[in-house]
Amino acid sequence: MNVLVLGASRGIGLELARQYRAEGHKVTATARTPDGLGALEALGASALKLDVTDAASCAGLAWQIDGEAFDTVWLVAGVYGPRSSGLQAPTQAEFDAVMHTNVLAAMRLLPVVAEALAPGARIALLSSRMGSIGLRANANGWLYRASKAALNSLMKDAAIALEGRALCVSLHPGWVRTDMGGSGADIDVQHSARTLRATVAALGPAQTGSFLNHDGQPLSW
Ligand code: NDP
Repeated sequence: MNVLVLGASRGIGLELARQYRAEGHKVTATARTPDGLGALEALGASALKLDVTDAASCAGLAWQIDGEAFDTVWLVAGVYGPRSSGLQAPTQAEFDAVMHTNVLAAMRLLPVVAEALAPGARIALLSSRMGSIGLRANANGWLYRASKAALNSLMKDAAIALEGRALCVSLHPGWVRTDMGGSGADIDVQHSARTLRATVAALGPAQTGSFLNHDGQPLSW
């Protein structure tokens, strides 16, 4: 299998790359720092430099992956932003950082990866159940929540635009012990990546355009 992981310097992205490499798959993965690129090279992945908030860097990915035919593409890069607990207005800089990383980047990268897909490819966007409006029980992190709700909207459009060419889903990885999830989170990164990979591998055409938990259970919008 030929796999692309966008945002793989650490956390869930790095673990996805590690697990695919451990099974002998061909992995191309991105990071924006020398340390991140080094970690990917150490796994035997082909490491590409990508800052998802940089328009030129996103455009440059197109020629770096020219000629590739990826079976599975993961868009993982994301930031949480301010740890707000109610109706606290973000600064312009906070808003831009979260929305550019979690939303605008997907709008730049989806058209690029759409040109480098194998027939029947799968595109998995790392969303969050915090983006669900129906499941919402508190207002913590409302900027992050809004960004993942917007990402889910983009996923649906990608699923429609790529129908017949690729399956596209949004996935909640669980509450995972990473830098973002923190040490008190529910599950470890190995478990999250394993179940995410199994869910994406098992996707059928009827599931394109859906929002799923890492174990494959549908989540409400
Ligand atoms: P981490 O904070 O551990 O890692 C975030 C990753 O995103 C890093 O590789 C980071 O790279 C990358 N990234 C951030 N900004 C950019 C950028 N501008 N350009 C390139 N890469 C960037 O997060 P997780 O691994 O926990 O999360 C991965 C995804 O899963 C995210 O989209 C997150 O929203 C989602 N998620 C995570 C949950 C959790 O409990 N952990 C729960 C629900 C969803 P760098 O090292 O260069 O900063």
